[in-house]
Amino acid sequence: MNKMQLLYEGKAKKVYLTDNKDRVIQEFKDDATAFNNKKKGTISNKGIVNNAISCKLFTYLAENGVPTHFVEKLSDRGMLCKYLDIIMVEVVVRNIAAGSLVKRYGFQEATVLEEPIVELYLKDDDLDDPLMNESHAVALGLATYDELDFMKEQARKINTHLKTFFAARKLNLVDFKLEFGRYNGEVLLGDEISPDTCRFWDLDTGEKMDKDRFRFDLGGVEDAYTEVQHRVLDRE
Ligand code: UDP
Repeated sequence: MNKMQLLYEGKAKKVYLTDNKDRVIQEFKDDATAFNNKKKGTISNKGIVNNAISCKLFTYLAENGVPTHFVEKLSDRGMLCKYLDIIMVEVVVRNIAAGSLVKRYGFQEATVLEEPIVELYLKDDDLDDPLMNESHAVALGLATYDELDFMKEQARKINTHLKTFFAARKLNLVDFKLEFGRYNGEVLLGDEISPDTCRFWDLDTGEKMDKDRFRFDLGGVEDAYTEVQHRVLDRE
């Protein structure tokens, strides 16, 4: 598989075309951003760690019947993926109150939600990724109601599988963000699943093990990412 021209450079990844029109290569960078680009920095080796974690999680989800864009891990930072037509809707699933849920609705941080909350956000940095509902997404022409229903159903299934996976590794899956895209008439899970896009708290100590360490200058950012990588990869 030959890497061709750069298709897109995002905050944490570069995406390259390949000599196969149905495949792209995602390359994970060490750059970190938070608060919609207002805070910028680097987390050394983050790209390597997030690629390794994402590849493992996509493989695990595929084994559990979740269709994803993942094809194979190509290198430390490179992941071969199906070339999706990305749906510009971010799906967030929450098990425990944190982040914007606390700010927006006044939940006490760390409240365990009786059932998971699934939210939709418009994927648009210029607008600060506003929270939206299905009618907004359909009115904007981003997706059909059927596609949104499928994405939310997949998000709930993915949550069930990931919660089990992380609990076995002594991590509490607090919340996470997913992206989906169209491929040959199907909707597949895309993007990445990593400490950049999830909140993980240590099951015993409650210690934050994700990008919140960077967002709020808690220190030990690299160590937390590496620890998550070990727990994800060194245990079968
Ligand atoms: N998230 C993400 N990208 C975004 C917004 C959120 O990956 O553009 C993830 C975030 O890391 C967290 C979850 O989605 O795991 C919920 O984020 P929240 O709405 O609390 O927003 P934040 O506190 O990140 O601004």
